[in-house]
Amino acid sequence: MKSIVYADNNATTNLSKKVLKSMEPYLKRMYGNPSSLYNLGKISKNAIEQSRNKVSKAINSNIDDIYFTSGGSESNNMIIKGISKANRNKGNHIITTKIEHLSVLNTCKELEKDGFLVTYLNVDEYGVINLKELEDSITSKTILISIMFANNEIGAIQPIEEIGKIAKGKDIIFHTDAVQAVGNINIDVEKMNIDALSLSAHKFHGPKGIGVAYIKDHVKFEPLICGGHQEDNKRAGTENVANIVGLGKAIELSNNNILKHNKKINKLNNFFYKLLNTNLSNFIINGNIENKLCNNISISFKNIDSNVLLLFLNKYNICVSNGSACNSNDIKPSHVLEAIKVDKDYIGGTIRISFGDNNDFLDVLYIVKMIKRTIKVINSKKKE
Ligand SMILES: *Cc1c(COP(=O)(O)O)cnc(C)c1O
Repeated sequence: MKSIVYADNNATTNLSKKVLKSMEPYLKRMYGNPSSLYNLGKISKNAIEQSRNKVSKAINSNIDDIYFTSGGSESNNMIIKGISKANRNKGNHIITTKIEHLSVLNTCKELEKDGFLVTYLNVDEYGVINLKELEDSITSKTILISIMFANNEIGAIQPIEEIGKIAKGKDIIFHTDAVQAVGNINIDVEKMNIDALSLSAHKFHGPKGIGVAYIKDHVKFEPLICGGHQEDNKRAGTENVANIVGLGKAIELSNNNILKHNKKINKLNNFFYKLLNTNLSNFIINGNIENKLCNNISISFKNIDSNVLLLFLNKYNICVSNGSACNSNDIKPSHVLEAIKVDKDYIGGTIRISFGDNNDFLDVLYIVKMIKRTIKVINSKKKE
């Protein structure tokens, strides 16, 4: 038995050994500042450009449209604020959805204070937007559509290619938060008409604190962080060389493994659903099992407090989330579960299980067994 059963890969993933190995030289001998002109600096600069090349290959973009940031949250801020402010002369209307990550939602709320108008699109019971509603919400003042690729709480995948077509047809900039998609779904920014995209290495077995903002060259934007001339004057600060190298290695590895990864995780999911159906009752599965992120399972148990459930599971060394990791300290139910209208008897009993390549069938068996045991204990206490 493992000392810990980790099934929270939507929150973060373990650092791959190969990725760590690729980073090591840049944490030790090769510490030159990439802006320096001597060889030690050029070695760092070179490593950054190789990594940029790997990212551009993974999403089929131009290499010069890749900017390194401190992660998904910064990329979302940089893109949404930067594009909105730079295109203010064209209009002040932004379209997004009700189920975005908080780094998108709270950025939009900030912009509302600055005079921008934001439309938050509804989603259906599976967490997917309605394309007609999107089209109807576009006005002559719309400058940006920001819609996530895949949702971190319920795994819902949006019709990105169709959204890209609509945006292109109306000459509106299209950004997608693809933080959950990278490594799970093939991304092609050209084919999908994506003008801007956010990604973050720690969601695909890379290091934490490093991400990418892809912004197509024709898109006007203002930098979020001003200072030196790094990243083509678009994102100041001495580059996090080791992390950038790690991100490059991680995106290369995970992108080459998408098919195999999906196959493996789907086997674990199917086994999980089967065990769940034969061992437990009074639960609902959130999202569309036929069309969702492979590494996301969201279940709501009737009249169960997910915090209590998680505390028990933690005692059994099981790492899973309630609703979403970012929201877990909130008393309010998650905005995503509210948007898909999870029944009030179920919403508070929602947990998220996200398997990764390190999990096996024994983990699945163990998790279901412990959930069953815990729910029995909780329900028996209620009757006392
Ligand atoms: C994790 C996550 C983010 C934030 O990325 P960080 O690198 O942790 O800042 C943004 N969007 C989605 C969908 C995420 O899952």
